[in-house]
Amino acid sequence: MQLLEERIRRDGQILGKDVLKVDSFINHQIDVPFLMELGREFRRLYDGEKITKVLTIEASGIAIACITALYFSVPVLFAKKSKTSNLGADLYATQVASFTHGNVNNVIVSKDYLTNNDRVLIIDDFLAEGNALIGLIDLCRQAGAQVVGCGILIEKAYQGGGERVRKIARVESLARIEKMDENGIVFVHE
Ligand code: 5GP
Repeated sequence: MQLLEERIRRDGQILGKDVLKVDSFINHQIDVPFLMELGREFRRLYDGEKITKVLTIEASGIAIACITALYFSVPVLFAKKSKTSNLGADLYATQVASFTHGNVNNVIVSKDYLTNNDRVLIIDDFLAEGNALIGLIDLCRQAGAQVVGCGILIEKAYQGGGERVRKIARVESLARIEKMDENGIVFVHE
């Protein structure tokens, strides 16, 4: 999506070779009108699909998930990172390795809010190695919920997560990065 690619080129900061900071419009300060344009694009891409819930993982996916959910008129459920390993029978739980923090989180949702009647659109800000999406898909599997697909703002295609996740679910990414370094960012255009 050209709008997002231009904004990443203008305002994104590359840290090392693997991390892109988009704190000025997505991850710290949030440009809400801009995210509304991106949410509208997810609506267009998944038009005609029956969706009952948008699922994301805290914290950085919540803003775009809420905006996308507005376009589908459905609730947002965000999976929580739990510090305790005492998880309880009322929860679905999975483990997700964090790309940015290098640790492993227990990630939970309440059984009350994810059920076998749900048709789920999973939304997140970044796709890197695919662990976050695979964890969210696993929570849906445990609940018997149908994953309609995933919507990602920025996929770093060279990190392999897209290839992994596309074997098990539809993935739509609004910007796909082929490589990034001190010379800039190259996007995938098919
Ligand atoms: P994955 O699980 O696909 O390896 O990584 C995705 C998760 O890690 C996303 O939820 C996102 O919060 C975080 N992440 C991965 N790569 C980046 C990045 O380059 N920049 C930022 N800001 N977050 C990232």
